[in-house]
Amino acid sequence: MIQTMGTHEYKGGCHCQSIRYQINLKQSIEFSEITLCNCSICEKFGYLHLIIPKPQFKLCSDWNLLENYQFNKKIAKHLFCKKCGVKSFYQPRSHPDCWSINVRCIDNFSQLNLRVNNFDGKNWKKNIESIR
Ligand SMILES: [Zn+2]
Repeated sequence: MIQTMGTHEYKGGCHCQSIRYQINLKQSIEFSEITLCNCSICEKFGYLHLIIPKPQFKLCSDWNLLENYQFNKKIAKHLFCKKCGVKSFYQPRSHPDCWSINVRCIDNFSQLNLRVNNFDGKNWKKNIESIR
């Protein structure tokens, strides 16, 4: 069965524009679940997660422009732009079939009226099922 693609299209990327991507959502980003996580790495970034299935994401840049930072269990791939350092999306540990988009890197972020949920990533094991 062919997966039906969403009709809400957004573009985003890193600061220097080396990394650009396009995402397709089934609903407007304003109605999508966006999560602010307090784990050791997200807290430092102020990372705002939007977790989407990989087929809904298209990288419009060269994968070679990304660097991969890993720590601890080395499951998540914290991808960032080699040139400007911005982490505009990455491979989360919790969802192997998805990318986590950094909503702050979506074009016109400041004009979006978002609903943000908090996720207690400091207690990952206890809470992860709540967002899976
Ligand atoms: Zn960049």
